[in-house]
Amino acid sequence: TAVTVMALTACGRSTEPTGAAADASAKPADITVGVAMPTKTSERWIKDGDYIKQQLEAAGYKVNLQYANDDIPTQVTQLQDMVTKKNGVLVVASIDGTALKGALADAKADNIPVIAYDRLLRDTDAVQYYTTFDNLKVGKLQAESLLQGLEASGAPKPWNVELFAGSPDDNNATFFFNGAMEVLQPKIDDGTIKIASGETDFKTVATLRWDAAVAKKRMENVLTKAYSDKDVNGVLSPYDGLSRGIIAALKGSGYGTGGKKLPVVTGQDAELESVKSILAGEQYSSVFKDTRELAKATVTMIQQILEKKTVEVNDTTSYDNGVKKVPTQLLQPVAIDKSNVKDVLLKANYYTADQLK
Ligand code: BGC
Repeated sequence: TAVTVMALTACGRSTEPTGAAADASAKPADITVGVAMPTKTSERWIKDGDYIKQQLEAAGYKVNLQYANDDIPTQVTQLQDMVTKKNGVLVVASIDGTALKGALADAKADNIPVIAYDRLLRDTDAVQYYTTFDNLKVGKLQAESLLQGLEASGAPKPWNVELFAGSPDDNNATFFFNGAMEVLQPKIDDGTIKIASGETDFKTVATLRWDAAVAKKRMENVLTKAYSDKDVNGVLSPYDGLSRGIIAALKGSGYGTGGKKLPVVTGQDAELESVKSILAGEQYSSVFKDTRELAKATVTMIQQILEKKTVEVNDTTSYDNGVKKVPTQLLQPVAIDKSNVKDVLLKANYYTADQLK
């Protein structure tokens, strides 16, 4: 099949609409769906890629699945290659939501529909649809769980809390942080929560590339700078990988041994290592987003686009990408902590009982 694809590229790009969507008679077997994923360093994207490939192949499509190693130029090249090879639809989970504009403009010029997957593609009119989880709600769930954990910990008020956000070039990071701050800001304002580092601004607390080592380092710096005479009681962390880095920094500074309790640390993605940490009573919570459901919603969307049917969306107002409001299919995230983690994840068949032993 690689040969067929190469033969097609030999024609080069014409000004005529050549995308599969332009050809209503194209059969799934004639269409290759280009799927661009950011990185394999986090479990969730591996699952996303696997599920979407399986489901697209089950529906008869060919799949060109690429991972970019969290390197922006690599992802740009992969996208350009998908356009050159006339992939019929592009599904893109971007590293930097604004960096793919050029390749996406080429896709649009070739009538290739583009779906932003999980992360919004910004500053471009070449994106047709978006499938994701309710990102603002993810942030709210994280903050609510943080408050619940703080209450349960019995730590005296005011609670000492530190804030972390995700990668500033990922549109989701702002949504997570804003959602969380809707819940936390009133508690900061009324004095229930103190941020001893004084670092509350998104840019200051953001973690480039969602890098656990960066979060670990910042936690270490914050502990040195602001916690020589007190304990930190809670940490808002937007993603399990960062949570584990943060917990490592805390342990390195004596938390979790003797009388010094680990603070309440939130997370996201229900990564196996973090789920185990939750069961062991270290990380407090995570947010489960069933990536199979996101893959399913995306495959349904692709079929609706290619079969020229009405494309199902349930949100047309929340996701303005700077150029347009992108019609979105929003899925629901679920908060998990020690009290429900096994129940939720086993019921969803996301992990096996063996994995959670
Ligand atoms: C995703 C999260 C993930 C994070 C880091 C975000 O865009 O929505 O699920 O934790 O990226 O990979």
